[in-house]
Amino acid sequence: MDQTWKADWRGTLETLNRSLHVGLSRAEANAFRQRNLSRVAMMVAAQSEFYRQRLAPVMGKSDLRPERWNDIPILTKEELRANRDAILVTEPGPESGALRMGWTSGSEGEPLHYARTALSDYVSNQITQRFLRWWQLDGNRRLAQIHTTRQVTSERAGPGVRRGWLSGKPAGEHHTYPVSADLQQHLAWLQEIRPAYLRSYPEVLCELARLALRQGRVLRFDLLISGGGVLTPDTRKLCKDAFGCAVSDFYGAEEVGGIAAECPACGEFHGADENVLLEIIKDDGRPARVGEIGRVVVTTLFNHAFPLIRYHIGDYVEAGGGTACTQPLQAIRRVLGRGKAIFRLNGGRMIWPYIPASELGRLANVKRYQFVQFALDALEFHYVPHNTAQGIDDVALQGLVSTFLDPSLKVMSIPVAAIERESNLKYMLYRSSLEGMT
Ligand SMILES: [Zn+2]
Repeated sequence: MDQTWKADWRGTLETLNRSLHVGLSRAEANAFRQRNLSRVAMMVAAQSEFYRQRLAPVMGKSDLRPERWNDIPILTKEELRANRDAILVTEPGPESGALRMGWTSGSEGEPLHYARTALSDYVSNQITQRFLRWWQLDGNRRLAQIHTTRQVTSERAGPGVRRGWLSGKPAGEHHTYPVSADLQQHLAWLQEIRPAYLRSYPEVLCELARLALRQGRVLRFDLLISGGGVLTPDTRKLCKDAFGCAVSDFYGAEEVGGIAAECPACGEFHGADENVLLEIIKDDGRPARVGEIGRVVVTTLFNHAFPLIRYHIGDYVEAGGGTACTQPLQAIRRVLGRGKAIFRLNGGRMIWPYIPASELGRLANVKRYQFVQFALDALEFHYVPHNTAQGIDDVALQGLVSTFLDPSLKVMSIPVAAIERESNLKYMLYRSSLEGMT
């Protein structure tokens, strides 16, 4: 093998590990990211017809022209799905290691077939490990995880146990249980094994907390770890009430790996900058400033077999970076989820709609509800009433909307027989029919 390639690659891995374990200075981190970005861009421009055209604006003679980066079109999920074979690089280089193909259902319920390399899995796992270190988890203690499982063989249908979930601590027990089991079974299992930490999806944590409170079960953890969905303030509060602990949040996607992780020091999310170039892009194409909402656009830096260049994963976030945290990583203040859960207002503003459940609970006669935005200044409040002969207090409802959402929004209440679920079977509390302007 080429000696220069070997030396170059050894240097990259050395810097990568230093970044993950010790941290780099801001200047070093920027230089490292730029180098990795340049490597991926040069490689895909040479090997993929699909990317050659898209990357044309940034390609110089022998390197990237970073000032033209924003001219690369954003890759949508639909384009990714349609061009999967053209994106797949057949000879990604020996550094990549073995190739792994996977399917993700995505939160919209439309399957996506992707490829990951051993190298990209390694980087992603290391980022998860750093997140666990930030939260000072003790790798000798028990971790329980309720998760989806791809295997359907009988031994995977029930609880399982492995060892060594935190690097350097080979004895720590990692108990797993498929999410498809009944919640009662999950609770009974947790009471039996009494783990220090529980990791699952936010919807599962929320329902477990509700059930535990309703049944008066006493179950205590040191920390919950949420990932694979949007963790709301209501779920955090429910978990605190039910399990007496905080929830830490990890943000990623199967086709990308880790994207950002919540920092216990400042409360914002720090980007997985070693794994991705993270951009937060507003509807007008400009980068979001601190406190503004934008689309998550990522470029994978170490998946040389299935490189994603300026890929809009479908989520929206609020840009962070206003804290004094010492991490030289990109910052996200809040992860907000799908675009149709974001409300757009007059003047180009975007808000993440949220009214505390405790406040909405005061509107009597509401069994289930959904706010639907159909114009920049108008909402409908769809609700399933307990008593169909009665309405609700419309003045109180408008007061909540003005206080917690925006005074420019006028709301009208509409009783309905049922609220439909999304394709992924979740109920959306806030839904905009204005999406598609992007
Ligand atoms: Zn921080």
